[in-house]
Amino acid sequence: MAKKIAVVTGGMGGIGHAISRELHNQDIRVVVAYHRNHEAALAWQAQQKQVGYLFDIAHVDVTNFQSCHDMIKKIENEISPVDILINNAGITRDHTCCKMSKEDWDIVISTDLSSVFHMTHSVINGMKNRNYGRVINISSINGQKGQYGQVNYSAAKAGMHGFTKSLAMEVAKHNITVNTISPGYVATDMVMDVPKNIREKIIEQIPMGRFAEPEEVARVAAFLADEKNGYITGANIAINGGHYML
Ligand code: NDP
Repeated sequence: MAKKIAVVTGGMGGIGHAISRELHNQDIRVVVAYHRNHEAALAWQAQQKQVGYLFDIAHVDVTNFQSCHDMIKKIENEISPVDILINNAGITRDHTCCKMSKEDWDIVISTDLSSVFHMTHSVINGMKNRNYGRVINISSINGQKGQYGQVNYSAAKAGMHGFTKSLAMEVAKHNITVNTISPGYVATDMVMDVPKNIREKIIEQIPMGRFAEPEEVARVAAFLADEKNGYITGANIAINGGHYML
Protein backbone atom coordinates (compact mmCIF):
# COMPACT_ATOMS: atom_id res chain seq x y z
CA MET A 1 0.00 0.00 0.00
CA ALA A 2 1.25 3.52 -0.81
CA LYS A 3 2.55 5.51 2.11
CA LYS A 4 0.41 8.29 3.53
CA ILE A 5 1.79 11.80 2.95
CA ALA A 6 2.00 14.35 5.74
CA VAL A 7 2.93 18.04 5.72
CA VAL A 8 4.24 19.56 8.95
CA THR A 9 4.48 23.35 9.06
CA GLY A 10 7.27 24.70 11.25
CA GLY A 11 8.60 21.17 10.91
CA MET A 12 12.21 22.06 11.71
CA GLY A 13 11.30 23.77 15.00
CA GLY A 14 11.32 22.08 18.41
CA ILE A 15 7.89 20.40 18.38
CA GLY A 16 7.61 20.17 14.58
CA HIS A 17 10.89 18.27 14.36
CA ALA A 18 9.66 15.72 16.92
CA ILE A 19 6.31 15.34 15.11
CA SER A 20 8.06 14.88 11.76
CA ARG A 21 10.25 12.13 13.20
CA GLU A 22 7.37 10.36 14.93
CA LEU A 23 5.29 10.35 11.72
CA HIS A 24 8.33 9.03 9.83
CA ASN A 25 8.64 6.29 12.47
CA GLN A 26 5.02 5.36 11.63
CA ASP A 27 6.02 4.81 7.99
CA ILE A 28 4.46 8.05 6.79
CA ARG A 29 6.22 10.13 4.11
CA VAL A 30 6.76 13.54 5.66
CA VAL A 31 7.18 16.85 3.88
CA VAL A 32 8.79 19.20 6.37
CA ALA A 33 7.81 22.78 5.61
CA TYR A 34 10.40 25.42 6.43
CA HIS A 35 10.16 29.16 6.40
CA ARG A 36 13.22 31.35 6.58
CA ASN A 37 16.47 29.82 5.46
CA HIS A 38 16.80 27.56 2.42
CA GLU A 39 20.48 26.70 3.03
CA ALA A 40 19.79 25.83 6.67
CA ALA A 41 16.83 23.69 5.56
CA LEU A 42 19.02 21.73 3.12
CA ALA A 43 21.65 21.22 5.83
CA TRP A 44 18.94 20.04 8.26
CA GLN A 45 17.59 17.61 5.66
CA ALA A 46 21.07 16.17 5.04
CA GLN A 47 21.72 15.83 8.75
CA GLN A 48 18.42 13.98 9.23
CA LYS A 49 19.28 11.64 6.36
CA GLN A 50 22.52 10.70 8.12
CA VAL A 51 20.53 9.44 11.09
CA GLY A 52 17.98 7.55 9.00
CA TYR A 53 15.20 10.10 8.51
CA LEU A 54 14.38 10.67 4.84
CA PHE A 55 12.35 13.86 4.74
CA ASP A 56 11.14 15.89 1.79
CA ILE A 57 11.30 19.64 2.42
CA ALA A 58 9.27 22.54 1.03
CA HIS A 59 9.23 26.27 1.57
CA VAL A 60 6.17 28.10 2.86
CA ASP A 61 5.21 31.35 4.51
CA VAL A 62 2.06 30.37 6.38
CA THR A 63 0.96 34.01 6.71
CA ASN A 64 0.58 34.10 2.92
CA PHE A 65 -2.48 32.35 1.43
CA GLN A 66 -0.91 32.01 -2.02
CA SER A 67 2.35 30.63 -0.63
CA CYS A 68 0.40 27.85 1.13
CA HIS A 69 -1.55 26.99 -2.01
CA ASP A 70 1.62 27.04 -4.13
CA MET A 71 3.45 24.70 -1.76
CA ILE A 72 0.58 22.19 -1.66
CA LYS A 73 0.23 22.28 -5.46
CA LYS A 74 3.97 21.59 -5.82
CA ILE A 75 3.80 18.67 -3.35
CA GLU A 76 0.78 17.23 -5.13
CA ASN A 77 2.49 17.52 -8.53
CA GLU A 78 5.91 16.25 -7.46
CA ILE A 79 5.07 13.72 -4.73
CA SER A 80 1.45 12.91 -4.04
CA PRO A 81 -1.74 14.41 -2.59
CA VAL A 82 -1.59 15.30 1.09
CA ASP A 83 -3.36 12.98 3.55
CA ILE A 84 -2.23 14.54 6.83
CA LEU A 85 -1.77 18.22 7.65
CA ILE A 86 -0.09 19.32 10.87
CA ASN A 87 -0.59 23.05 11.46
CA ASN A 88 2.29 23.58 13.85
CA ALA A 89 4.02 26.83 12.81
CA GLY A 90 3.64 29.52 15.42
CA ILE A 91 5.27 32.52 17.06
CA THR A 92 4.89 34.68 20.14
CA ARG A 93 5.22 38.48 20.46
CA ASP A 94 4.44 39.09 24.10
CA HIS A 95 3.36 42.42 25.60
CA THR A 96 0.51 43.47 27.81
CA CYS A 97 -2.44 44.65 25.73
CA CYS A 98 -1.87 48.32 26.54
CA LYS A 99 1.73 48.10 25.27
CA MET A 100 1.14 45.80 22.32
CA SER A 101 1.69 47.28 18.86
CA LYS A 102 -0.74 46.67 16.03
CA GLU A 103 2.14 44.87 14.25
CA ASP A 104 2.61 42.43 17.15
CA TRP A 105 -1.13 41.72 17.16
CA ASP A 106 -1.33 41.24 13.40
CA ILE A 107 1.73 39.02 12.96
CA VAL A 108 0.69 36.60 15.72
CA ILE A 109 -2.90 36.36 14.46
CA SER A 110 -1.60 35.87 10.95
CA THR A 111 1.09 33.27 11.82
CA ASP A 112 -0.81 31.32 14.47
CA LEU A 113 -4.43 31.53 13.27
CA SER A 114 -4.89 32.75 9.69
CA SER A 115 -2.19 30.23 8.77
CA VAL A 116 -4.54 27.42 9.79
CA PHE A 117 -7.12 28.64 7.29
CA HIS A 118 -4.50 29.21 4.58
CA MET A 119 -2.99 25.74 4.91
CA THR A 120 -6.21 23.84 5.48
CA HIS A 121 -7.94 25.59 2.58
CA SER A 122 -5.09 24.33 0.36
CA VAL A 123 -5.68 20.66 1.19
CA ILE A 124 -9.29 20.24 2.25
CA ASN A 125 -10.97 19.93 -1.16
CA GLY A 126 -8.46 17.27 -2.20
CA MET A 127 -9.08 15.38 1.03
CA LYS A 128 -12.84 15.56 0.44
CA ASN A 129 -12.45 14.28 -3.11
CA ARG A 130 -10.34 11.35 -1.90
CA ASN A 131 -12.64 10.78 1.08
CA TYR A 132 -9.79 10.75 3.60
CA GLY A 133 -7.84 13.19 5.70
CA ARG A 134 -6.33 14.15 9.04
CA VAL A 135 -5.93 17.79 10.12
CA ILE A 136 -4.13 18.41 13.42
CA ASN A 137 -3.77 21.89 14.86
CA ILE A 138 -1.10 22.61 17.46
CA SER A 139 -2.64 25.12 19.84
CA SER A 140 -1.54 25.88 23.43
CA ILE A 141 -2.60 25.72 27.05
CA ASN A 142 -2.63 29.52 26.87
CA GLY A 143 -5.49 29.39 24.38
CA GLN A 144 -7.47 27.55 27.05
CA LYS A 145 -6.56 29.43 30.21
CA GLY A 146 -5.27 32.81 28.95
CA GLN A 147 -1.85 34.18 29.84
CA TYR A 148 -0.65 37.54 31.08
CA GLY A 149 1.09 39.37 28.24
CA GLN A 150 -0.38 37.18 25.51
CA VAL A 151 -3.70 38.60 24.31
CA ASN A 152 -2.55 38.04 20.73
CA TYR A 153 -1.25 34.48 21.23
CA SER A 154 -4.10 33.35 23.50
CA ALA A 155 -6.70 34.74 21.08
CA ALA A 156 -5.06 33.02 18.12
CA LYS A 157 -4.68 29.70 19.92
CA ALA A 158 -8.27 29.77 21.23
CA GLY A 159 -9.48 30.66 17.73
CA MET A 160 -7.66 27.65 16.39
CA HIS A 161 -9.91 25.31 18.35
CA GLY A 162 -13.06 27.12 17.15
CA PHE A 163 -11.78 26.45 13.63
CA THR A 164 -11.18 22.79 14.51
CA LYS A 165 -14.72 22.23 15.78
CA SER A 166 -16.44 23.93 12.86
CA LEU A 167 -14.34 22.20 10.23
CA ALA A 168 -14.75 18.85 12.00
CA MET A 169 -18.53 19.20 11.51
CA GLU A 170 -18.17 20.18 7.86
CA VAL A 171 -15.94 17.29 6.80
CA ALA A 172 -16.84 14.39 9.09
CA LYS A 173 -18.93 12.72 6.40
CA HIS A 174 -15.86 12.69 4.14
CA ASN A 175 -13.86 10.56 6.58
CA ILE A 176 -11.70 13.52 7.58
CA THR A 177 -10.91 14.14 11.22
CA VAL A 178 -9.89 17.54 12.59
CA ASN A 179 -8.40 17.89 16.05
CA THR A 180 -6.50 20.29 18.27
CA ILE A 181 -3.59 19.49 20.56
CA SER A 182 -2.98 21.97 23.37
CA PRO A 183 0.47 21.49 24.87
CA GLY A 184 1.50 23.09 28.12
CA TYR A 185 5.12 24.15 28.47
CA VAL A 186 7.38 22.04 26.27
CA ALA A 187 11.14 21.95 26.64
CA THR A 188 11.96 23.59 23.30
CA ASP A 189 14.10 26.69 22.64
CA MET A 190 10.92 28.81 22.94
CA VAL A 191 10.68 27.82 26.61
CA MET A 192 14.32 27.11 27.51
CA ASP A 193 15.18 30.70 26.45
CA VAL A 194 13.06 31.94 29.37
CA PRO A 195 15.33 32.91 32.33
CA LYS A 196 15.99 30.02 34.73
CA ASN A 197 14.32 31.66 37.75
CA ILE A 198 11.10 32.18 35.77
CA ARG A 199 11.21 28.62 34.46
CA GLU A 200 11.51 27.35 38.01
CA LYS A 201 8.45 29.38 39.01
CA ILE A 202 6.48 27.90 36.10
CA ILE A 203 7.51 24.35 37.06
CA GLU A 204 6.21 24.95 40.60
CA GLN A 205 2.73 25.37 39.06
CA ILE A 206 2.85 22.09 37.10
CA PRO A 207 1.62 19.05 39.05
CA MET A 208 3.99 16.78 37.09
CA GLY A 209 6.87 19.00 38.21
CA ARG A 210 8.50 19.26 34.78
CA PHE A 211 8.05 20.52 31.23
CA ALA A 212 6.82 18.18 28.48
CA GLU A 213 9.30 16.67 26.06
CA PRO A 214 8.55 17.43 22.38
CA GLU A 215 8.27 13.68 21.76
CA GLU A 216 5.32 13.50 24.16
CA VAL A 217 3.41 15.95 21.96
CA ALA A 218 4.60 14.17 18.83
CA ARG A 219 3.24 10.81 19.96
CA VAL A 220 -0.25 12.27 20.37
CA ALA A 221 -0.05 13.91 16.95
CA ALA A 222 0.95 10.55 15.42
CA PHE A 223 -1.93 8.85 17.24
CA LEU A 224 -4.43 11.33 15.78
CA ALA A 225 -2.81 11.00 12.36
CA ASP A 226 -3.21 7.23 12.36
CA GLU A 227 -5.70 5.86 9.86
CA LYS A 228 -7.06 3.52 12.54
CA ASN A 229 -8.05 6.40 14.83
CA GLY A 230 -10.91 7.73 12.76
CA TYR A 231 -13.55 8.41 15.39
CA ILE A 232 -11.80 11.21 17.28
CA THR A 233 -12.80 14.52 15.75
CA GLY A 234 -13.39 18.05 17.01
CA ALA A 235 -11.42 17.19 20.14
CA ASN A 236 -8.93 19.35 22.00
CA ILE A 237 -6.34 17.16 23.66
CA ALA A 238 -4.41 18.77 26.49
CA ILE A 239 -0.82 17.68 27.15
CA ASN A 240 0.11 19.82 30.10
CA GLY A 241 1.17 17.66 33.06
CA GLY A 242 -1.97 18.67 34.94
CA HIS A 243 -1.13 22.39 34.68
CA TYR A 244 -4.67 23.26 33.55
CA MET A 245 -7.63 20.90 33.84
CA LEU A 246 -10.89 21.72 32.10
P1 NDP B 1 9.71 26.86 17.36
O1 NDP B 1 9.98 28.33 17.41
O2 NDP B 1 10.83 25.91 17.63
O3 NDP B 1 9.08 26.49 15.94
C1 NDP B 1 8.16 27.32 15.30
C2 NDP B 1 8.26 27.04 13.83
O4 NDP B 1 7.30 27.86 13.14
C3 NDP B 1 9.63 27.38 13.26
O5 NDP B 1 10.09 26.28 12.51
C4 NDP B 1 9.36 28.57 12.35
O6 NDP B 1 10.19 28.66 11.22
C5 NDP B 1 7.92 28.34 11.95
N1 NDP B 1 7.32 29.57 11.46
C6 NDP B 1 7.24 30.77 12.10
N2 NDP B 1 6.69 31.69 11.27
C7 NDP B 1 6.40 31.05 10.12
C8 NDP B 1 5.84 31.46 8.87
N3 NDP B 1 5.42 32.72 8.67
N4 NDP B 1 5.70 30.55 7.90
C9 NDP B 1 6.10 29.25 8.09
N5 NDP B 1 6.65 28.81 9.23
C10 NDP B 1 6.80 29.70 10.23
O7 NDP B 1 8.49 26.62 18.36
P2 NDP B 1 7.93 25.30 19.04
O8 NDP B 1 8.40 24.09 18.35
O9 NDP B 1 8.17 25.44 20.48
O10 NDP B 1 6.37 25.50 18.80
C11 NDP B 1 5.66 24.84 17.76
C12 NDP B 1 4.16 25.10 17.97
O11 NDP B 1 3.78 24.65 19.26
C13 NDP B 1 3.80 26.60 17.91
O12 NDP B 1 2.57 26.74 17.25
C14 NDP B 1 3.67 26.97 19.37
O13 NDP B 1 2.80 28.04 19.56
C15 NDP B 1 3.11 25.68 19.96
N6 NDP B 1 3.33 25.52 21.38
C16 NDP B 1 4.60 25.51 21.91
C17 NDP B 1 4.78 25.33 23.26
C18 NDP B 1 6.14 25.29 23.87
O14 NDP B 1 6.20 25.24 25.12
N7 NDP B 1 7.22 25.27 23.14
C19 NDP B 1 3.65 25.17 24.16
C20 NDP B 1 2.36 25.20 23.51
C21 NDP B 1 2.22 25.35 22.17
P3 NDP B 1 11.27 29.86 11.11
O15 NDP B 1 12.09 29.77 12.38
O16 NDP B 1 12.03 29.54 9.87
O17 NDP B 1 10.49 31.13 11.02
